Amino acid sequence: MNRRLHYFVSMGLVLLACGVAPGGENRVLLVGIDGAGGRYTQAADTPNLDSLAAAGAARFDFLNEAALLADPPEPYGSSGVNWSTVNTGASAASHGVHDNFFDDNSLANFPHWFKYVKEHDPTLFTASIVNWAPINELLVPDEYADLKVQFSGQPAAIEDMLVRDEVVKLLDTGDPAAVFVHFDQVDQTGHAFAWGSPEYYAAIETVDGLIGDMMAALNARPGVVSGFEDWLVLVVADHGGEDGAFFHGASQGPSDWEVPFILSGPSVPDGATFGPGTLRDVAPTALWHLGIDPSTTNMEGHVVGVSVVPEPTPYPWIFLALMVLQARRDPAKRWFGKRKPRHRVC
Ligand SMILES: [Zn+2]
Repeated sequence: MNRRLHYFVSMGLVLLACGVAPGGENRVLLVGIDGAGGRYTQAADTPNLDSLAAAGAARFDFLNEAALLADPPEPYGSSGVNWSTVNTGASAASHGVHDNFFDDNSLANFPHWFKYVKEHDPTLFTASIVNWAPINELLVPDEYADLKVQFSGQPAAIEDMLVRDEVVKLLDTGDPAAVFVHFDQVDQTGHAFAWGSPEYYAAIETVDGLIGDMMAALNARPGVVSGFEDWLVLVVADHGGEDGAFFHGASQGPSDWEVPFILSGPSVPDGATFGPGTLRDVAPTALWHLGIDPSTTNMEGHVVGVSVVPEPTPYPWIFLALMVLQARRDPAKRWFGKRKPRHRVC
């Protein structure tokens, strides 16, 4: 059986076995921190991100589009390209956003992940609340977002607080199923004071506090308290920047290319780990949690942090089928007599 067919069959069986509910029990909060390089985020004092990682898994070397070409254009180390990749699950070559201007893109063919959420279940509430307006103006079509809020014209730290306020209000009073949030002051502080400066670290720590406020609101939701709602919280960045530089770009290498990716929630067991990946993997992972098989979409990334292979289930025939499939795919990795090393998605 070829790999692709194996993947389809496994995904279908897992969705069936885990009983992923399309009615809204599973929800996603995707938080983007513009300009927060992986090495800086890992070194900063971020108790709220640490708590999320402790209740899930984290890496600080996920790769943006600049890392994935031998000779990348300089803007591949910037926001337009990489927020497009985060939200479409597609490569820059596919979504066609090559800089911050979004000209002549192919987003119609490689759309924002909200499109797939709405096609899956139009009743699921989607929201995009951002501090960089082009995301909402150029990347998120109105028809796929129930709520779009963006800010401009004020200092980035003020606007980040307004973003936080909007998200807290939505979590307090609304019924969201898929939320994208974007903070911008880390990038703005890097441009003003340099990447790696004390002010830059302080900006990361300020955003960490805003994320803590949002998590407090999320955890106070009656559906979370009761356990009815299963939120997958994802935190990611688009790029970093070279230590001491006041700008960022593809030529800066890993200081720009490597970003954090944190997964947290009941579906990600404490202390779980996952392998290297790229920003193309973020949206497929979000869809997966919502019960949508990303292999049925135009996304090019992979589900990460949550296994596509379930633990033994109450349905022995499903597990037996998966054992046979796994053994046929790779006889050296048979599960017989072993404890499955990876965790399950539900
Ligand atoms: Zn920037």
